[in-house]
Amino acid sequence: MKTDAKSKGTWIHRFAIRLFTLVLAVLIFWVLGFFVDDIRAIRGPDYASIEKKHLDKDLVAKRLALEKQVADLTRQIENQTEKQRVVGDSSRNLQQTINQLLELQKLGMQKSIAFSDTEQANFTSSLNLFLNNQKKYQELSQTVSDMLERKQGLVREKDQTELEIEKQRQPARDEFNTLSQRHRMKLAFLQLAILLSILVVAATVIIKKRSSIYFPLFLAFGAATLIKVALVVHEYFPSKYFKYVLIGGLLIVVVRLLIYFIRTIAFPKTQWLVKQYREAYERFLCPICEYPIRIGPRRFLFWTRRTVNKIVVPSDQGDQEEKYTCPSCGSSLFEECPSCHKIRHAMLPNCSHCGAKKEIK
Ligand SMILES: [Zn+2]
Ligand SMILES: [Zn+2]
Repeated sequence: MKTDAKSKGTWIHRFAIRLFTLVLAVLIFWVLGFFVDDIRAIRGPDYASIEKKHLDKDLVAKRLALEKQVADLTRQIENQTEKQRVVGDSSRNLQQTINQLLELQKLGMQKSIAFSDTEQANFTSSLNLFLNNQKKYQELSQTVSDMLERKQGLVREKDQTELEIEKQRQPARDEFNTLSQRHRMKLAFLQLAILLSILVVAATVIIKKRSSIYFPLFLAFGAATLIKVALVVHEYFPSKYFKYVLIGGLLIVVVRLLIYFIRTIAFPKTQWLVKQYREAYERFLCPICEYPIRIGPRRFLFWTRRTVNKIVVPSDQGDQEEKYTCPSCGSSLFEECPSCHKIRHAMLPNCSHCGAKKEIK
């Protein structure tokens, strides 16, 4: 039905068209991804504020105060223990000194040398110091053990408070879950609303412009949108349901394809095309683009489908037949017949001179 001027192009052209169709689809997929991401960025419910609403303020304050007290106490206990360690060290030193002094005294007694006054005084002061230290050590021990007891009490109280707070947290968590779920559904709805309207536009364009030369553009657009829709549906709806959606979509597509092929075989397009071409030739219009076929006496006239019967055709001009190509779309309309070498209709099945048959595609 078309001339060589409208051939499919070289393989590199065809390859380039396929490649760029694919690239276009990927780019459109990206753009749709940006839309979807922007929608997804809409903030959901805030857990912290929900928890605040549900928890008793006094209880939270109490827990905080208890935590602080426990921390303070722990620090104090550490300080006291450190002090106790220092006192203990000093006691051990003193003990050694006293032991040495006693040893000396024992030696002196064996040799009947009496302890001097200074030595006696040293011994007494060391002993006093030692006893004092021991007393201090005991006191520190007592303080530490008191503090530990107090700390344990506080920790117990804190645990109790924590338990109560945990009980109040449960409804907060439930509310958060409900709100989150609702938010998720809202996002899914928004995304699908946008994507599905784009898909409807794409499908309409694909069906309407099926025979347009720019069909690959629309196909890329439609395919990218369809894949994005499928991904979003899969993300938001459990695969239990998604499986049915997917199989439903596939069924529709396969049935449509089957119907298409069955119809193509049952009702060949040629018949219908020939009818269309015949009507166009009758009106002296190009069957492809409807531009007037200006040959013979009609060479200097112009008409359309509506005005074709109203124009007056001058009869004094030559009626010689010649080859003719539509100046608008380049389709060959009259050509030389290969059998009788006269001029015949290029888009009708039979030669008007010799009747030679021609395949109309
Ligand atoms: Zn034409
Ligand atoms: Zn012929």
